[in-house]
Amino acid sequence: MNVILVGPPGAGKGTQAETIVEHFKIPHVSTGDMFRDAVRQGTELGKRAQEYMNAGKLVPDEVTIGIVKERLSQPDCDKGFLLDGFPRTVVQAEALDGIMESLGKKIEIVVNIAVPDEIIVERIVGRRSCKKCNTVYHTKFNPPKVEGICDKCGEPLFQRADDQEATAVQRLRVYAEQTNPVLDFYAQKGVVKDIDGNRARAAVWEDVKKVLESYDNN
Ligand code: ADP
Ligand code: ADP
Ligand code: ZN
Repeated sequence: MNVILVGPPGAGKGTQAETIVEHFKIPHVSTGDMFRDAVRQGTELGKRAQEYMNAGKLVPDEVTIGIVKERLSQPDCDKGFLLDGFPRTVVQAEALDGIMESLGKKIEIVVNIAVPDEIIVERIVGRRSCKKCNTVYHTKFNPPKVEGICDKCGEPLFQRADDQEATAVQRLRVYAEQTNPVLDFYAQKGVVKDIDGNRARAAVWEDVKKVLESYDNN
């Protein structure tokens, strides 16, 4: 099962991904997590990506496409994968078609998590993330058991540099301009499933699960 998760920043993609990968046993391929890991490790990739990320802009297509191609070619993606945060431009979507073709695979379903902009900003500014395992929390909507500490690995939580209100607004703008056309690209192929993400996490998951199971059983 080769799945893409789409939705504006803060829609709940990473949150739903946690349950999806556990339930369907496929790897979670998040370009945002890959870039943040690279920034933390101080690699060349990280140095290149950091300024774009902090400005709420997209990392250049050729850089992003390269890391995705490499990741999807790894053996753990043979039985399927969950792409989160990629593709975000039509150029990336077209490149992904090429990558899929070269691997003899196909994108089967695009899950679009829709949430209105005014809800998003509150989600983003309250987000707290674990550096070690990338689990996401929210100070109000999904707090950890012990304040500031990851439930899963006990590491301290942090707030992403780009999770400030001004950067969040900029990212929403970038999404509307550059990523909405990606949805049209996949809508033309008839693979998009829209999910109302403006509900509690568990209710969203019930719908996501139904959509993916109906595919998985085919
Ligand atoms: P969110 O979960 O809020 O949507 P991500 O973690 O997916 O954010 O992405 C954080 C940042 O990483 C983006 O603002 C962008 O700078 C960079 N990034 C992630 N994925 C891509 C991509 N596919 N193309 C370009 N830049 C990306
Ligand atoms: P994305 O990966 O799309 O950027 P996240 O999964 O990181 O989004 O979620 C953004 C923030 O919103 C996080 O703080 C998360 O805990 C919170 N969140 C996720 N899903 C919901 C939901 N259904 N209701 C309320 N808050 C949510
Ligand atoms: Zn953790």
